Amino acid sequence: MTRVTVIPGDGIGPEITQAMTEIVEVSGVKLEWDYVYAGLKVYEETGELLPESVFESLEANKVAIKGPMTTPIGKGFRSANVALRKRYDLYSNIRPIYRYGKTPAIFGDLDLVLFRENTEDLYAGVEEQISEHEMHSIKIITRESSERIIRKAFAYAQQTGRRKVAVVTKANIMKLTDGLFLDIGREVAADYPDIQLQEVLVDNMAMQLVMNPKQFEVIVTENLYGDILSDLMAGLIGGLGLVPGANIGEDMAIFEAVHGTAPDIAGMNKANPTALTLSACMMLDYLGEAEAAKLIRQALDEVLSDEEHFTADLGGTLSTTDFTKKVIAAV
Ligand code: NAD
Repeated sequence: MTRVTVIPGDGIGPEITQAMTEIVEVSGVKLEWDYVYAGLKVYEETGELLPESVFESLEANKVAIKGPMTTPIGKGFRSANVALRKRYDLYSNIRPIYRYGKTPAIFGDLDLVLFRENTEDLYAGVEEQISEHEMHSIKIITRESSERIIRKAFAYAQQTGRRKVAVVTKANIMKLTDGLFLDIGREVAADYPDIQLQEVLVDNMAMQLVMNPKQFEVIVTENLYGDILSDLMAGLIGGLGLVPGANIGEDMAIFEAVHGTAPDIAGMNKANPTALTLSACMMLDYLGEAEAAKLIRQALDEVLSDEEHFTADLGGTLSTTDFTKKVIAAV
């Protein structure tokens, strides 16, 4: 039986993880959940955000689904999420923005996929204190890491019959770093003559996504821009409770929702488990269990087609557990 590492995480993490595992189990797929614990709660108990047991489980199973983890703001704390992506070189962060059912979407149905470079940029954590009043953060962009994510985006576009890839940078200002990313975008695009390259500056992209998102199909960008734009894109289809994600490297993958720990609703049975459940569907596809993934996506589409079934984030009144029961009944 396939063993999958499960990291419930902090905040709403445990609630949505419970919902997700119940839904996956009724899809008929046989998985063995290997629970390990990480995040702020674990830190408070053990002094470690990421205990050794997490690494052991990940290295044995090679596939994981995780809830969000709190990163305390301030000095001395490196994000445990960023640390995992970097440690295992999970360089492709894939975030599909697809509208299920009748969620409150600004432009109706939408189908966009964002590919975000997941290991470099300002998130590499190369920061130094020059003086009490001067801090430096170094932006790292390499040919190798840029090329591999851009190639993933173009290959995905081709495999899924999409015709356009937007390469998003601020190359007009950051000539060296973003200039390199854009140059590589052009080089890779030359290998895909049937796919149109859209070169878009990130500030313009923010506006274009709000005014006319349907002009895009696949977007590929650097780490920081991708993080920000994917939250914006989640807003186009109803919010963060709906958007899944995958962090994929050469031989390991960690699936997680785009959202964080939602401290404002943690422990209140209000969280929307859709994003984590769709992340589990991406994991099932990755594991070759596409049929189970399809059943779950169809059930979510059906349940989210009725406003009576919405959780609070979508303007409804259903609790996490009642929403989960509806999805289970629809699978
Ligand atoms: P957030 O995503 O936790 O919450 C933003 C808003 O969206 C909140 O109002 C929240 O209630 C709502 N929301 C998010 N997910 C929801 C869901 N499933 N159902 C219903 N509503 C939902 O962002 P934040 O408040 O900026 O961050 C909180 C914490 O999460 C921080 O400590 C941050 O570091 C962490 N975080 C972790 C990850 C991760 O583990 N990958 C990602 C982002 C943020």
